Amino acid sequence: MRSHLAALASIVLALAPSMLRAQGPSLPTEFIQQPFDVQRYDVAAYVNDLPSKFMLGQCVITVNWIADQPNAVFPFHLRSLTIDSVVVRKTQLTVTTIGKPSDASYHHEIGLGARNAGQADTIRIHYHGTMTQELGTGQWGGVQYQDSVLYAMGVGFQNNYVSATQHWMPCYDHPSDKATLHTTFFSPVNVRVASNGALQRDTILKGTPSNVRMTQWEESHDCATYLMTFVAAPYTILDLGTEPVPMQVYSLRRDSAATSKSFSLLPDMVTLLQQRFIPYPFDKVGYANTTRGSMEHQTMICFALSISQSGDTVNATATHELAHQWFGDLVTPIDFRHAWLTESFATYCESLWHEHLFGNTGYLKMEGSKANDYMFRIAKTSGIGAHEGVFAIYDFPRATTSNYPETIYKKGDVVLGMLRALMGDEAFFAGLRRYLNEHAYGNASTSDLVTALDVNTSVDVTSYITEWIYGKGWAKLRVELQPGPTSTRIRITQVQRDLDTSWTLYSQLPLNCTYTDASGAQRDTVFVFSGTSPLEFDVASAASLKINDGSHCRSLVQVVQTTSVAVGPSPTSYDIALAPNPASTHVKLTRTDATHTSTVDVVDVGGASCYHATWEAGSASMLVPTSACAHGAYTVAIRTDGRLATLPLLLTPSW
Ligand SMILES: [Zn+2]
Repeated sequence: MRSHLAALASIVLALAPSMLRAQGPSLPTEFIQQPFDVQRYDVAAYVNDLPSKFMLGQCVITVNWIADQPNAVFPFHLRSLTIDSVVVRKTQLTVTTIGKPSDASYHHEIGLGARNAGQADTIRIHYHGTMTQELGTGQWGGVQYQDSVLYAMGVGFQNNYVSATQHWMPCYDHPSDKATLHTTFFSPVNVRVASNGALQRDTILKGTPSNVRMTQWEESHDCATYLMTFVAAPYTILDLGTEPVPMQVYSLRRDSAATSKSFSLLPDMVTLLQQRFIPYPFDKVGYANTTRGSMEHQTMICFALSISQSGDTVNATATHELAHQWFGDLVTPIDFRHAWLTESFATYCESLWHEHLFGNTGYLKMEGSKANDYMFRIAKTSGIGAHEGVFAIYDFPRATTSNYPETIYKKGDVVLGMLRALMGDEAFFAGLRRYLNEHAYGNASTSDLVTALDVNTSVDVTSYITEWIYGKGWAKLRVELQPGPTSTRIRITQVQRDLDTSWTLYSQLPLNCTYTDASGAQRDTVFVFSGTSPLEFDVASAASLKINDGSHCRSLVQVVQTTSVAVGPSPTSYDIALAPNPASTHVKLTRTDATHTSTVDVVDVGGASCYHATWEAGSASMLVPTSACAHGAYTVAIRTDGRLATLPLLLTPSW
């Protein structure tokens, strides 16, 4: 052990002035093709004092040159740690630091001289110091020590460089360049260190003054740097067996019982995702309890301790992180503009898990709640509860949100659910399997997903993704009810662009409606309606109509106005409108003719009224408080001189 430490100690280099460079490394939200391809990282790290976050490290980077370079430059990232030496071909090289730590582009470079395509270099970097957390206001990415656990979170929420593996190992820290990873950790004998891949060795070395534990891991599958990690603590290992794949959870002994319970359905989760997609692509499924939340490091997931302690066996978060092993880890976005290719899918897999456990009802309930959560809480721009606002999923604005806004999780999830409803299960899941197989162990962009999905389907996937992923907003609907002698004509129009022209108009919008048709038959229909053309159909009575309901799908739609034409003995008819819909605490009624006094009732599906009032003549509008009504479907009945107008109303909980 002593000799190992001696080998790591070396000289701190003075940094040279800035070097000229033709083009720099890719920023987090861009992809610049580099002339090199990192093949492998070999990291040896001594972590003998966990609370201090001190590391003495050595990283050997194997790089292939893929283009001739008269003056080859290799850029790498490393933050807060001191570079002691960089040696290539037995020569110690000068390191140039580019930019300030506050820059997203902050990195180091070494000049290697002429290199031809096909040549390789082995770059040995010795370094040491105190590992830190992400810069900025976030306290998530980078290296943390809490509750006896030292661990590395591969991305940050607020850091402008996103990928945070540079807080513990030198690397070309961009998702586009994946490599294999071999790690060796030296730790106190009671501290287990978990990392990516398969465990190669876990042994106690006799040393002076004390023994040292050596743990070696090998991730032999290409891995994005943001998915590399290590977790060190006096853990016990909960072995969950080898069927369908080897599964372990690292836990402090005190949390073992609750953690075992929380992960009791993990084999079912793996089986479900293998059936839906393709066989699990790595050596093991690993989780380690850590304090600050969950992160899908390849084969060694940092997992929110509070969820493990809860003993919740449904554990949708475990499914979410497991799903990332396919979406994000096996197939990695080429850069972070495409982060939805990981988060939307992992979030959607939570709904697939609910579908598995609780059937179609459980699936629809989860999809519906995510749609409402997105439209009425997450996308709220102003006022009480203002949150992220409205923006496109692709290349979202990081300055006003974070590297991982909720929009890409929740809206993206429902966008996938709607696409499944449009394409049908067979074409949708076959397309996703094609995407995973074609880009396995590599990178993909949003257009790669479109190409893989756009096979054997009548859906125009290109337009769909353009509208829902590159465009912003959701569908706002005006519903007009036109009572006739024997049935009521329903006319639904997309009006979101009437309200805000920067929003998208949807050419393929699935809308699940239930109603009693004019012949008296119960219908549960998915209409696909398009652009400015209204959707029209007949129902026996307006009260039987439920929009975005039924047994097939939940969509990102909001009924903003319901208009009914009141008819009766009066020779004239007039419009009554209701908004918002869905509503939570109140709805506003408006009418074009205020010359008569009306009565207003809010009636539930069982016929019980939860609100009754008089709407005096002379008032064109009226505010109806609905806080006293439980959430659910209602009919607002307005009676005027024997004439009846009915408007469907959905009440949701206030978020
Ligand atoms: Zn996720």
